[in-house]
Amino acid sequence: MQPFTYESLPQRVVFGWGTLDRVAEDVERLGCRRALVLSTPEQREAAEALAVRLGPLAAGTFPGAVMHTPVEVTERAMQVVRDLGADCTVALGGGSTTGLGKAIALRTDLPQVAIPTTYAGSEATPILGETEGGKKTTRRTMKVLPEVILYDVALTLTLPPALTATSGMNAIAHAVEALYARDGNPITAAMAEQGIAALARALPRLVADPSDRDARSDALFGAWACGVCLGTVGMALHHKLCHTLGGTFDLPHAQTHTVVLPHATAYNEAAAPEAMRAVARALGVDRAPAGLHDLARSLGAPLSLRELGMPQDGLDRAADLAAANPYWNPRPVERAAIRDLLGAAWEGHRPG
Ligand code: NAD
Repeated sequence: MQPFTYESLPQRVVFGWGTLDRVAEDVERLGCRRALVLSTPEQREAAEALAVRLGPLAAGTFPGAVMHTPVEVTERAMQVVRDLGADCTVALGGGSTTGLGKAIALRTDLPQVAIPTTYAGSEATPILGETEGGKKTTRRTMKVLPEVILYDVALTLTLPPALTATSGMNAIAHAVEALYARDGNPITAAMAEQGIAALARALPRLVADPSDRDARSDALFGAWACGVCLGTVGMALHHKLCHTLGGTFDLPHAQTHTVVLPHATAYNEAAAPEAMRAVARALGVDRAPAGLHDLARSLGAPLSLRELGMPQDGLDRAADLAAANPYWNPRPVERAAIRDLLGAAWEGHRPG
């Protein structure tokens, strides 16, 4: 066993079917009495129903969360927090809604109950990405880690197949990078392998039948395991590339992760053999990069940056940006090789 340092994150995690019934109990357990329920506009009805369920413990709803946590939206939500005298937030939704709860916590220290409905994993991390003036910045601070995660598998039954597929691949990306993280450790590695295996098993079944309860349960468990990976160790090339592509070319988050992952994995394949063996084992394949591509293809997910609307003449700029601020990666980040990686991701080739 290699020497390691491991810091576990202080979070209460409740997982199961129908756990939403316990939301009031969890708000009270935090010592709170005026919860502001957050959602996207698309999940407004579910947020309003949740407020009804909270009864006197609900101060109101703010159904204004959007992707990438723009500061203007947070400021509007902050005004609602003040007007209603909210003393905690309950974020019902995917990474966008969780992000808004975190942004409010950063500014107010209000406790958070996160109720995830996608596989993004943000609820399990002390990481917040915010955008201001078109620029996305990411910070890591314990102030934004939700106190409670309530996983109710029933809420994921409505996640459309396309988002199920890409959100699941987004989760797998956290685990792949955790397996070769510089600050990796055996606990995170075990979670990573378990998380990838659970999602790789569940996602094809869910694309065929979104109402498959066992597969929904496995997928949400996998999302948590992968989220813990993202929360406990540092990420590398894959996450940096997706951050650059998403921020600069306004590409959709989960889809970008899905497209880039096989290619970023191929870039690191020779430099991280042990991690590659773990990923391949979890996928039940011989080679990790091709296995990830094949999984995405079998799910009918997008395979190329071209499909996501990335302009081909932006590839050079993306390579410049990705290579501009050096960061740790198992294989050194070299501009020419990154440009090749991006070219392959733009075309959507099967790696190897
Ligand atoms: P999202 O939260 O933007 O959700 C996408 C859409 O799906 C929304 O319209 C939403 O209302 C809808 N939706 C969500 N769950 C649904 C369900 N069960 N049924 C029907 N519709 C549903 O997408 P996402 O991929 O979960 O989150 C992406 C955002 O999260 C990005 O901004 C990304 O940067 C952030 N993120 C942050 C972290 C972190 O640790 N800070 C980790 C992962 C993602």
